[in-house]
Amino acid sequence: MINAPRTSVVLFTRDLRVHDNPALHHATQEGQVVPLFVLDPKILKGSYNRPNRAKFLAESLADLAAALEKRGAGLVVRRGEVAAEVAELVQTVKASAVHMAGDASGFSHRREDALREALDELDCELHVHDDSLFVVPPGQITAVGKTHMSVFSPYHRKWEKEPRRTPLSPPRKLALPAGIETGKVPTANEISSGETAPHMSAGGETAGRKLFRTWLEQRAEGYADDHDDMAGDRTSRISPYLHFGCLSPLEVVTKAWDMAPAFTRQMAWRDFHAQVLAANPKSTQVDLRPRNDRWRRGKDAEREFKAWKEGRTGWPLVDACMRQLVDEGWMHNRGRLVVGHFLCKTLYLDWRWGAQFFVDHLIDGDTANNTMNWQWVAGTGTDSRFNRILSVSSQAERYDPNGDFVRRYVPELSDVPGAKVHAPWKLPTDVRKQLNYPEPIVDVREGNERFLAARGKR
Ligand SMILES: Cc1cc2nc3c(=O)[nH]c(=O)nc-3n(C[C@H](O)[C@H](O)[C@H](O)COP(=O)(O)OP(=O)(O)OC[C@H]3O[C@@H](n4cnc5c(N)ncnc54)[C@H](O)[C@@H]3O)c2cc1C
Repeated sequence: MINAPRTSVVLFTRDLRVHDNPALHHATQEGQVVPLFVLDPKILKGSYNRPNRAKFLAESLADLAAALEKRGAGLVVRRGEVAAEVAELVQTVKASAVHMAGDASGFSHRREDALREALDELDCELHVHDDSLFVVPPGQITAVGKTHMSVFSPYHRKWEKEPRRTPLSPPRKLALPAGIETGKVPTANEISSGETAPHMSAGGETAGRKLFRTWLEQRAEGYADDHDDMAGDRTSRISPYLHFGCLSPLEVVTKAWDMAPAFTRQMAWRDFHAQVLAANPKSTQVDLRPRNDRWRRGKDAEREFKAWKEGRTGWPLVDACMRQLVDEGWMHNRGRLVVGHFLCKTLYLDWRWGAQFFVDHLIDGDTANNTMNWQWVAGTGTDSRFNRILSVSSQAERYDPNGDFVRRYVPELSDVPGAKVHAPWKLPTDVRKQLNYPEPIVDVREGNERFLAARGKR
């Protein structure tokens, strides 16, 4: 008697690639593979489903489907509750295993539990690959008696020493079992409707690999010196591709390891935040280290928040960064730090307000990285110097010394030369009047003192 080939379902979540994809690779080793993506109504209705990410997701799914088709199989797309959809497909194709990537959020853990329960009943194995979305997965590096580490530097020292596996090659050939309907890859509008950023990057593994290759060849070596040069725009910009798993973090780190240690250190922050979130799932909303903050509320607070969102605070560097966010669905890391400190410390507004606005626009908007960075900025997270304030003027002087970054995003100020662009209120009154640019909404020094007083520092 000839044994029927073993069939596995590969459930894609945010690992939308064929290169170095442990779930796809291991399932392929075992026999026939059914690649599946489920549009989950819980995600579709949630606060993370926003037009920019929907567009990037749709493009990434189309690219993945094409890569799978090229290898002989399509991407099966279903819409519905994940455990139920997977269970139904498992029964249809008589699969004996499901492979998927392990993730860090409370939502992903609940999804995994529900799936395990449904598959147990069908006597089908669930293989969760924790090395897909992270270089070092949550739970692998721990402090004594803890499930994670809460200070970055010692975490990073251990992270660097962890053994790393070799990136996996993509499967050469795939074949769907006969009679499987693949379904249609959704368009962006079928995921979320609304306007997208005019200048956002294109989604997908093909675009991500090309971007990373070019950056590696042309910019990786200078990263340590120039990653904070805002006008130079020399960081990799791969964060959206990492968020959707179009790029493998392990492959990225492996390729950059010798050339750009400062870059791989940033990649360690990504794993660090994931393991803090995995150990503290409620920290998406709740302060990790409460500081008894009484964030400002009321009309003035709302007016200032509106100005911040619109890039009309009268502080050019803040406004340039906020306009970059809306224009590109992305913001430079230095910019995120500047506008975050300005919101939480200078204006003393709740980090959750800022985090949600970022999620509304960022293509890389990510539960772990967004929340944990916002908590870090607000001083309620893992920053041990939790009352530190990045002053907008000194940040402008250091990281946009000639004002080129501001002029690129704030056209009202495009004729103001050099560093003068950072302080338009110092220009002669008649010049100022013609600019149509707002007066500062806050005296930064007073704002920062208010924050320190609230934290009991003065
Ligand atoms: C308030 C705030 C909110 C943020 N929200 C997000 C978010 O939602 N999603 C997100 O991916 N990053 C977030 N970051 C981190 C960081 O700003 C972006 O990852 C980075 O700007 C992406 O650009 P890049 O790919 O060119 O980075 P590069 O400088 O080229 O770095 C390479 C990669 O390292 C990782 N990385 C870099 N810095 C950090 C960091 N501080 N924390 C975690 N990972 C990091 C990213 O995956 C990044 O793609 C946030 C930072 C702040 C201060």
